[in-house]
Amino acid sequence: MTRSKKRNNGRTKRKKRGNRSASASKRSARRCGLCGKSDNLTRTECCGNWICDDEDAYVLFSYARNSCSRNHRRFTLCGHHHVEGHVGDWTECQECREGIETEMYVNFGTNDYNFVKLKNAPSYEPTHCKQCGKVIRLCEESYTLKGGAPYCESCSPVPW
Ligand SMILES: [Zn+2]
Ligand SMILES: [Zn+2]
Ligand SMILES: [Zn+2]
Ligand SMILES: [Zn+2]
Repeated sequence: MTRSKKRNNGRTKRKKRGNRSASASKRSARRCGLCGKSDNLTRTECCGNWICDDEDAYVLFSYARNSCSRNHRRFTLCGHHHVEGHVGDWTECQECREGIETEMYVNFGTNDYNFVKLKNAPSYEPTHCKQCGKVIRLCEESYTLKGGAPYCESCSPVPW
């Protein structure tokens, strides 16, 4: 008796999804517009795009940026514009433009948390540390303002 080597290694691919809503099946495979995941989606309040419904993955005060919906709401002009209750299109909003430091404005308008990026982002002068002259990226680095002048992290005067 020869045994055929064929074995059914009993794993059928089957994905079980908690949500039974019929629309979840095949129609226009919805994906998070930011990371491309397709489950557990919701729509953004600001622009109605599909996005991960992952806000509860965020650990309070951790400042982690692992939540698509939070990132979009907190770190984009689209989200800011909506949260602030501005009217009209955020890409043309003067309130946003004037209310936010240009460098931040550009970052918020063009970072990867956007579905649509700001087209003609204004140019801005990079910020230099008053002491060592190093460019400080306002959005990513910490810095201190003293007497209106910015200091990079390593030159920051001790606040007390
Ligand atoms: Zn996502
Ligand atoms: Zn939005
Ligand atoms: Zn606005
Ligand atoms: Zn410095």
